[in-house]
Amino acid sequence: VRENIYEPFTEQSVLVYLEQKGLITDRREVTCQEVGDGNLNYVFIVKDLQTDKSLVVKQALPYAKVVGESWPLSLDRARIERQALQEAAKRVPELVPQVFDYDDDYAVTVMEDLSDHVILRKGLLDGNIYPNIAADIGTYLAENLFHASDEALGPVEKKKLARQFVNPDLCDITEKLVFTDPYYNAESNSYPDNLQESVESLWHDDRLIFEVAKLKKQFLTEGETLLHGDLHTGSVFVTETSTKVIDPEFAFYGPAGFDIGAFIANLTLNYIAQQERADDSRRHEISAYLLETIEQTWAVFEERYRTLLLEKGFDDRQRTEQYADYVIHKIWQDTLGFAGCKTIRRIIGLAHVEDIDGIENAAGRLQAQQRAIETGRSLIFNRSVWRSPKSLTAYLKGLE
Ligand code: ADP
Ligand code: MG
Ligand code: MG
Ligand code: MG
Repeated sequence: VRENIYEPFTEQSVLVYLEQKGLITDRREVTCQEVGDGNLNYVFIVKDLQTDKSLVVKQALPYAKVVGESWPLSLDRARIERQALQEAAKRVPELVPQVFDYDDDYAVTVMEDLSDHVILRKGLLDGNIYPNIAADIGTYLAENLFHASDEALGPVEKKKLARQFVNPDLCDITEKLVFTDPYYNAESNSYPDNLQESVESLWHDDRLIFEVAKLKKQFLTEGETLLHGDLHTGSVFVTETSTKVIDPEFAFYGPAGFDIGAFIANLTLNYIAQQERADDSRRHEISAYLLETIEQTWAVFEERYRTLLLEKGFDDRQRTEQYADYVIHKIWQDTLGFAGCKTIRRIIGLAHVEDIDGIENAAGRLQAQQRAIETGRSLIFNRSVWRSPKSLTAYLKGLE
């Protein structure tokens, strides 16, 4: 980014920019609307009134708005997000928005308009069921996590790719908000008064603090593969038949289980919330769907990852079932541990989820918050005990 060129766009100036770039023909013949939540980035949807074609312009802002304050953030994350989308498009083009253009000086990515999709978190909260997400996200995870690894690329190419995804500012957010602040009385934490006792029981749990410190160390040091870095249900766009993963601005080389854990944690949070939110007539169906999706996401990931590893991993002599078992078991344990951290931070840390916070009944909301904390703790402690997703889904079923 050349800082002397960068400026945050407005709904007007973005059109001047697009016209200069030849991405629209006449700025008087288009509509433009900024739809992002404006905390970190702008998202402009631009529609050509004559051709009915549309595109999306995402622009990074140089700061994050956090509770009135502003946290400086590198604009280079726009390049990282765009390159992560382009890497994913090499493996699973049908599962990411197409990148049409980009401009590192303006921290801009111009991409496919996915307005016919809805954000998965919202779709789930509306009580919808998306039958393809386990297969699609399991495939997305296996293809991307494998193809950026040492086994797939070889150590030299891997290091060259990893160098492009050094993302200190965004990793710092995760290090603080996921692995540090929820475990002491940090200013950034945010939770209701009636949760004080549960929260303090976490802070006084020496065993838990130690386990989280180990997971934080893994997050900091284990550059296994290129991660999405923020794979919650707000980063997945869906229709009945299509799944698109967006928003990889936190991409970096880290432990594979972090992405899988993020997704499973968000399904888990939705499951816990649905025990309070779903109509009596639909709770059973929705719960069964969410548990099945947790199990199948892992199953699809595991099968595809194993196949890729046995086809292309390391050299002939080392490409064994035993090695595949070892790698996959390691990823599974990490998945559970990171899912636990991701679950806890959404209850007591800075950034919450609508699934839980939007539960209208106060007693139900408190119950869900306490269950989420306990589930997070169980995920972290049992990560070397629970051998398969069945252990997690059996635990969750016990909450119904
Ligand atoms: P942020 O990094 O600020 O969270 P996101 O990439 O998640 O930005 O986008 C924020 C919102 O903008 C999304 O929840 C979605 O509503 C909208 N959005 C983002 N990308 C697209 C797209 N390609 N097509 C349509 N809407 C989009
Ligand atoms: Mg946002
Ligand atoms: Mg983002
Ligand atoms: Mg987002």
